Amino acid sequence: MRYFSTRGGMPAQRFSDILLGGLAPDGGLVVPERYPLIDAATLERWRALPYADLAFVLLRLYCDDIPDADLHELVRRTYTPQVFGTAEIVPLRTLEPDLHLLRLSNGPTLAFKDVAMQLLGNLFEYVLARDGRALNILGATSGDTGSAAEYAMRGRKGIRVFMLSPDGRMSPFQAAQMFSLRDDNIFNIAVDGVFDDCQDMVKAVSNDLSFKSRHAIGTVNSINWGRIIAQVVYYFKAWFAVTRDAPQPVSFTVPSGNFGNVLAGHIARRMGLPIRRLVVATNENDVLDEFFRTGIYRPRRTADTFQTSSPSMDISKASNFERFVWDLVDRDGARVAALWREVDERGAFDLASTGEFARIADFGFVSGSSSHARRISTIREVERRYGEVVDPHTADGLAVAQAWREPGVPMICLETALPAKFAQIIVEALGHGPRRPGAYDGIEEAAQRFTRMPADVGMLKQYIAARVT
Ligand SMILES: *Cc1c(COP(=O)(O)O)cnc(C)c1O
Repeated sequence: MRYFSTRGGMPAQRFSDILLGGLAPDGGLVVPERYPLIDAATLERWRALPYADLAFVLLRLYCDDIPDADLHELVRRTYTPQVFGTAEIVPLRTLEPDLHLLRLSNGPTLAFKDVAMQLLGNLFEYVLARDGRALNILGATSGDTGSAAEYAMRGRKGIRVFMLSPDGRMSPFQAAQMFSLRDDNIFNIAVDGVFDDCQDMVKAVSNDLSFKSRHAIGTVNSINWGRIIAQVVYYFKAWFAVTRDAPQPVSFTVPSGNFGNVLAGHIARRMGLPIRRLVVATNENDVLDEFFRTGIYRPRRTADTFQTSSPSMDISKASNFERFVWDLVDRDGARVAALWREVDERGAFDLASTGEFARIADFGFVSGSSSHARRISTIREVERRYGEVVDPHTADGLAVAQAWREPGVPMICLETALPAKFAQIIVEALGHGPRRPGAYDGIEEAAQRFTRMPADVGMLKQYIAARVT
């Protein structure tokens, strides 16, 4: 498999070359030359595979420069009941006939990001050891991504993590998850500022190319291609869980922010998985909903991004969206580059009256947005009807899904986190707090280790340099 850029300006690369990055040198995102087609007979052969083996047969199509035996071993080591709580890894709960919840949040940090990030930890360690290299991951987090990255990379040879977070602004549970880690390769930095200050510091360091290469700085953000393909696997697993033997269509609803999770569904569909609809569910930050309804893509400025009660979807631009648009415009790199030039120069692009947007239905995408009031009423309703407490992001998905259900077509809603991470809104909705998995009892009381720092790029560079050489 060869990889190119969505903007057409990158010579072909192999999987191992693009694994540690995601951004192409021309400003585009790396994409595979094709999506391998899985025919109905192959699909049926895969039906009985345990999760790790299913992950292996799918991943080897994209990671073909890692020997099969190594990849298989690495995937088996990743997807274990010890790490994900059950042998199924992503169990499915049927709420009522043709309405299902796909549980993706039983990994170490209780959010779906663990499913991909845990694999990335093993992949990174393997590729770095093979090439005799080291990597210093620098990131900014408002909660979920940072903890998923740290739990995936902790204790790994050749890898250090420097994670910036806004001091005092994460939930007590999220802060405790990260700051209680005692591994020597994890460095938590609490910045005196907001999330955007953290993000700006990461960008400033990454833009200093000589510092970046001297200190082997890398990222694990949501555009990482390894994360995307790891997520493709559970769409297949879920399809097997709700169908019997015929190629029966199912629909998925996906709570979306950076368009990473639902992009994996798009790829599964392009690979031939019988997916009817991909429902993109947003919160009040409805950039993606606006596009799928109108054809206009208009990323918001930071100042116009709302702080909501489903905070992991409070995004102003959907980083992975360009990969879908590349397919929508028939993989025309010059066209993608022109569209993103329009975003840079005029703040938006508009495909409304184009033949491209006229074909949007062929891709299965539809959308909707939720709100604080609907989130609260959905959390209540889901507990009342099914005895299930869902987190606010999953609630946004369930709320939006209602409009797109069809008789006889199973609707699978992706759970993106456990409610234990977002106690405050659960109390507001239900009058009582969420249940917390036993291992996390008293986590807020554990000793915490982190460094406070002003939003000062020079200081950050000094801090990193002192610890990597
Ligand atoms: C990251 C995240 C999302 C959004 O996922 P994308 O892949 O960025 O669209 C939704 N819910 C939760 C809980 C998350 O952590």
